[in-house]
Amino acid sequence: IHVDDSNITFSELILSEQVLKGLQDAGYLRPSPIQLKAIPLGMSGKDLIAQAKSGTGKTAVFAVIALELVLRQSKLFKESLERDRQQLQQQHGDGYERENKNALLDMDDDQYCETLTGVLRKPMVLIIAPTREIAVQIRDVVNDIGKYCKRVKAEAFIGGLREQEDKAKLTGTQIIVGTPGRIKSLIENLQLRTDFIKMLILDEADKLLDPSFSKTINWIYTTLPTNRQVLAFSATYPTSLLNIMSVYMKDPIKVILCSDTPSLEGIKQYYQIFEGPGNSDNDKSIASTAPNPLSYNIFKQKVSSLLKVLQQVSFYQAIVFCNHKVRAEELTRTLIRNGWPSAYIAGGQDQKDRLETMQQLRNFQLRVLVSTDLISRGIDIERVNFVINLDIPKDPETYFHRIGRTGRFGTFGVSITFITADETPFIQDLVDNYLVQITKRSDDDPIDEQ
Ligand code: ADP
Ligand code: MG
Repeated sequence: IHVDDSNITFSELILSEQVLKGLQDAGYLRPSPIQLKAIPLGMSGKDLIAQAKSGTGKTAVFAVIALELVLRQSKLFKESLERDRQQLQQQHGDGYERENKNALLDMDDDQYCETLTGVLRKPMVLIIAPTREIAVQIRDVVNDIGKYCKRVKAEAFIGGLREQEDKAKLTGTQIIVGTPGRIKSLIENLQLRTDFIKMLILDEADKLLDPSFSKTINWIYTTLPTNRQVLAFSATYPTSLLNIMSVYMKDPIKVILCSDTPSLEGIKQYYQIFEGPGNSDNDKSIASTAPNPLSYNIFKQKVSSLLKVLQQVSFYQAIVFCNHKVRAEELTRTLIRNGWPSAYIAGGQDQKDRLETMQQLRNFQLRVLVSTDLISRGIDIERVNFVINLDIPKDPETYFHRIGRTGRFGTFGVSITFITADETPFIQDLVDNYLVQITKRSDDDPIDEQ
């Protein structure tokens, strides 16, 4: 049977009134395909592996599932506590001599309410993300959608900020969002109690299960009660990972949308070839290793082409991905000198500065953000409609994550990837194996912006 999903609204998903109102206020009227499929499955308690392209609203999927869980748990706790109290009252009624005073019964109403609230305000959901910036963004989305859910709140726990301040944030918080290292540390120090955790959510799950994080994730996982639900979200899953992930889950349901091409229709993709001596800066390992001195000439050419194209495209905000920190810093200075309000963000910077830079981007105080792969995933900024890969990404997955910073939720975007002559196989692979439509251009060639 053909079902036309286009007219379905969130009210048909059987959500609580509070959450529905929150979604409405946030401007979410109709659920995206992944929201339509994954929200009911997640709410039914199933373990879930969900895949959908960048910018299709995966955050709201698990935000809604998490909020609904907390509301439901709160209701259950409350009911059972009230039942216990009533039962005690009946048992101990009519002149029954109480030998052992029962705490629950002896409480006056205020004390009772306090106990109840105490139980209701324990961590119940744990959301883990690979970068601090994504964790903060998730917290904001959950609190936004949950703004009518009384006494339910999310807080972010991330590295680079003082751990002492986390203690206060933990009290009364049911939805914990954080990066792997800080969450582990809080559990280790017994600051974060996991006994009441009912749900573990992994955002950018493929990244969280790659070797840099998987040990920590595994450690955290083993501290959780056995009856927890596990949900995984990403735009990309290498096939090998789907099997690894199943180890963490019980008969997981896979919701895989459009697995044939991770590329987004709304993004016009271009590439430009740079000829010259030496290799480019595509050192596949880490962005902090020194760039190849021979490639400086190519870097200069790339920068001059970048300055041209920034003039040519009428963009709101742009993100430029650079594989080397030193180059990124130099580029940022050049951009500023040329009149573009720009900043640079990378790991190793002070976390307060990193958060401040992201806030400036959201406030439209910056036109161009230069970054290493720190922000290639997950970051959602509505007005970013231009992505430039000054250096090619290390693999196709990273390419899709990077360009996926634009074209969010069906909007239109442009991406340009700069390569050297010896890097053309990268583009060929995108075309042959990922069905990417990408156009070759040189400086001053027209760019289709619509
Ligand atoms: P993903 O995690 O899938 O890459 P996000 O969850 O970051 O995508 O969402 C991308 C953007 O789409 C966000 O700006 C979000 O506010 C918006 N969005 C999500 N769901 C809806 C919806 N149902 N209606 C309108 N906008 C939505
Ligand atoms: Mg996301």
